[in-house]
Amino acid sequence: MSKGNIGVTSDNIFPVIKKFLYSDHEIFLRELVSNAVDATQKLRTLSSVGEAKGELGDLKVRISIDKKKKTLTVSDHGIGMTAEEVDKFINQIAFSGAEEFVAKYKDNAAAIIGHFGLGFYSAFMVSKRVEIFSLSYREDAKAVHWSCDGSPEYEMEDTIKAERGTDIVLHIDDDNKEFLEDSKIEELLKKYCKFLPVEIVFGKKKEWKDGREQETEEDNVINNINPAWTRKPADLTEEDYKNFYHELYPMQFDEPLFHIHLNVDYPFHLTGILYFPKIKNNLDIRRNKIQLYCNQVFVTDEVENIVPEYLTLLHGVIDSPDIPLNVSRSYLQSDAAVKKISGHITKKVADKLAELFKNEREDFCKKWDDIKLFIQFGMLSDEKFYERAVGFALVENLDKNYYTLEEYKKLIKDKQTDKNGDLIILYTQDPDSSYAYIQRAKEKGYDVLLMNGELDVHCISQAEQKNEKIRFVRVDSDVIENLIRKKDEKERVALTAEQENALQYSFESELPKGEKINYNVSLESVSADALPVFLTQNEWMRRMKEMSAHQQGMSFYGTMPDQYTLVVNTAHPLVSTMADDLYNAVKEQLLPLQERLNQKEAEEARIKAEQKDIKSEDLTQEQKDAASAITKEVADLKAELKKLYADAAKDNTRLHQLIDIALLASGMLKGESLANFVNRSVELL
Ligand code: ADP
Repeated sequence: MSKGNIGVTSDNIFPVIKKFLYSDHEIFLRELVSNAVDATQKLRTLSSVGEAKGELGDLKVRISIDKKKKTLTVSDHGIGMTAEEVDKFINQIAFSGAEEFVAKYKDNAAAIIGHFGLGFYSAFMVSKRVEIFSLSYREDAKAVHWSCDGSPEYEMEDTIKAERGTDIVLHIDDDNKEFLEDSKIEELLKKYCKFLPVEIVFGKKKEWKDGREQETEEDNVINNINPAWTRKPADLTEEDYKNFYHELYPMQFDEPLFHIHLNVDYPFHLTGILYFPKIKNNLDIRRNKIQLYCNQVFVTDEVENIVPEYLTLLHGVIDSPDIPLNVSRSYLQSDAAVKKISGHITKKVADKLAELFKNEREDFCKKWDDIKLFIQFGMLSDEKFYERAVGFALVENLDKNYYTLEEYKKLIKDKQTDKNGDLIILYTQDPDSSYAYIQRAKEKGYDVLLMNGELDVHCISQAEQKNEKIRFVRVDSDVIENLIRKKDEKERVALTAEQENALQYSFESELPKGEKINYNVSLESVSADALPVFLTQNEWMRRMKEMSAHQQGMSFYGTMPDQYTLVVNTAHPLVSTMADDLYNAVKEQLLPLQERLNQKEAEEARIKAEQKDIKSEDLTQEQKDAASAITKEVADLKAELKKLYADAAKDNTRLHQLIDIALLASGMLKGESLANFVNRSVELL
């Protein structure tokens, strides 16, 4: 027997491994099984070139638990190691600058393990002693037994071992008893080893017999050694791809929409299959994630740094030996290979979508609603993807026809170009509540898009930035005549100043008042056959508010009240009659008041004119006082005048009826106001 010190320059590597690597404890199993698989693969290679002689025999890797001895053993029939090799590969962990590195990354198990190639040593995270029994494939090799209790001291001696290969025996320490539970080990094997290329066996298959679960003779093989992504696309059927999807996500019952088989040799190696899933809701998206493998060993399903964020919504696997495994996240982000991989995946996804759109347009349109979230997310967050995706990103109109934006622009060009040459694209977010507006637009021969997706409002803004001379307007944001202006001047229906004041002040005083909604009144000569009064909402402001719901730094808009305009259509005969009624009701009191107001306004204008050319610091106190006194008088008189109208408007049933109709048409008449409206309507009848 020989004794020696493990060739580490720092004595405290084991305490570090044991102590700081808590969160990643379980990866020891992945490391040991991977070593066993590697040793088996190497043997296969050597045998194929004639270097390893004789029958290879059973090459399965077996994991077993001995509860009495408290050991977990990983056994392979791979190439094994001679005493010299154990010394070279296990004892001499040669590295420099260890202390420094360990101090720096003491919280990051993966970084340390990766940096030093300490795969095997991760066994010490869960063991008080680790033993190796190994017999090399070489002719006349002697079996070797190595044992170490986690201090830098090890023991090594010859031993007797009948079969070629290596057994790694872990004496699990008391803090890590969970790794002696069958269920725990099976869970970990299924997580990390599900697609390893050598069969991994854990105990025997069980089946229900005579009312209880019984072991069978058959090995319980954990993995599928030929997962779909490692095979040639030409050898796979649609069915194979679907089956593999369910193998990856056993709890997912929906079929994927379509798949993309990745296969790159240069400048890096990467294989994999990505699936576009059917998304029902946001919860679904996050449940199943893309899984990252390195030579069929599961590494992680946190792929945020490897694929662009919008593609993390996809499902599937990516396998690349070129993605540095055991390194920190921040390192991954800056890694050049990883950046290239990300760029490549983006390109592949875009190519696939473009191809589907070109060759199977009908099917693509059918699936559009399910995939639009990915595509829009991608277009908004990645300029390169945007450039590719404009060719197949679609808009949908109310007749359920799908167009690319370019196609759509051509379609509506003749009818929906306004007097400035801007193309006006009409859309609705809710066809039911804007029904009346949509009808008016259709009567004019205009087309209306449906934009009710989560990201539509952002995409609208993006499209406006990228395309000159197009503008999206929600169909109910104004009367159709205003949305698409064909002529410079509207035919004006002239009202007298008195009529205008009467309408303005009366409607203003009777509109509902609340904190969350602001109304203002605008008199416009729309057209005789449009509604007499209706609500419009500023397109820009509304969009800002909608976008603020998704975007940081925009919450300011979210807190602003909603802005609505009550348009009083002065071209409607009802409105001019109403104006006269309102005026006549207050006429007697109004006339003397109006006269005084006119005088005062004239005086104010005179004083302002006098003081116009004098700098404010040169004005005498007297002059200043005179100016502010007259301004106040004018304001007071105006307030009095408004009050006159307000008092009269309070009891004007028809005015209230008109306001309520406007609110009702926009779905904004609720609760008590709605009940009042119904009662008033009955009374009027
Ligand atoms: P890595 O696997 O990253 O090289 P490890 O510390 O896991 O680092 O293993 C060190 C070396 O020990 C391996 O490269 C291999 O040569 C040898 N080794 C480990 N496990 C086995 C095994 N089960 N059979 C044969 N050789 C092994």
